[in-house]
Amino acid sequence: MAPSRRQLLRFAALGAGGLVLESLAPRAAAAAEGDLAERLSVCRPSGDPLQELLRRNRDFCRVWQAAERSEDPVDRATLLHDTWPLHCQVRPDALAAGQRPWASVLCCADSRVAPEWIFACGSGELFEVRSAGNTAFAEGIASLEFAVAELAVPLILVMGHSGCGAVTAAMATEPLTPLLEDLVAPIRATLQPGADLAQAVRTNAAAAAADLPRCSGLLRDAVADGRLQIQAAYFDIGSGEVSLV
Ligand SMILES: [Zn+2]
Repeated sequence: MAPSRRQLLRFAALGAGGLVLESLAPRAAAAAEGDLAERLSVCRPSGDPLQELLRRNRDFCRVWQAAERSEDPVDRATLLHDTWPLHCQVRPDALAAGQRPWASVLCCADSRVAPEWIFACGSGELFEVRSAGNTAFAEGIASLEFAVAELAVPLILVMGHSGCGAVTAAMATEPLTPLLEDLVAPIRATLQPGADLAQAVRTNAAAAAADLPRCSGLLRDAVADGRLQIQAAYFDIGSGEVSLV
């Protein structure tokens, strides 16, 4: 018999270790799964995940702004690498068997927007969906459905950023390729007359955050049940600061 969609999702959530667990006696499998869940949760904050992201971002900001004061690229890299003690890291053997991220970030593909740096997180903490302009595209929404339904992620942060090229392209009149026209179309739909780039980025992030529960019944139900918070945010590349929209 072909595996059900739920079985496939479960396999994907647990990775290859899922097959091992399924073959154990039920009680031993439950104990092993419980132990794995515990090991995967060592970096999970006990408090509000949104406040934890913002707290870690403040740590990042201090180092990011200090790096600006150095003329030496190696010194700047050293300063940034000194943020690693702020990070928590799940054991690699646990990550090889599964994942238990505690926040999702829908953000731009821009090379300057790296959620693990911005939020001082290690592997296995953030479930990321990235696309130029951080719109709520179908495959991205499906990915977030997986994060919420199978990984119990309690927060989706939709994060735009300063100097976004996709939003700039949406505001401009230059012709684009057909695929890029498709990409910027939902951004164009959110543009307000007279808005500058920063305002347009914020509006676009808020619109994408609103689109998620509107386009997905699964996400809508999770929000209604109190299992999921969706929040829009803005990342300022110059200061390193993430502010809520
Ligand atoms: Zn961008």
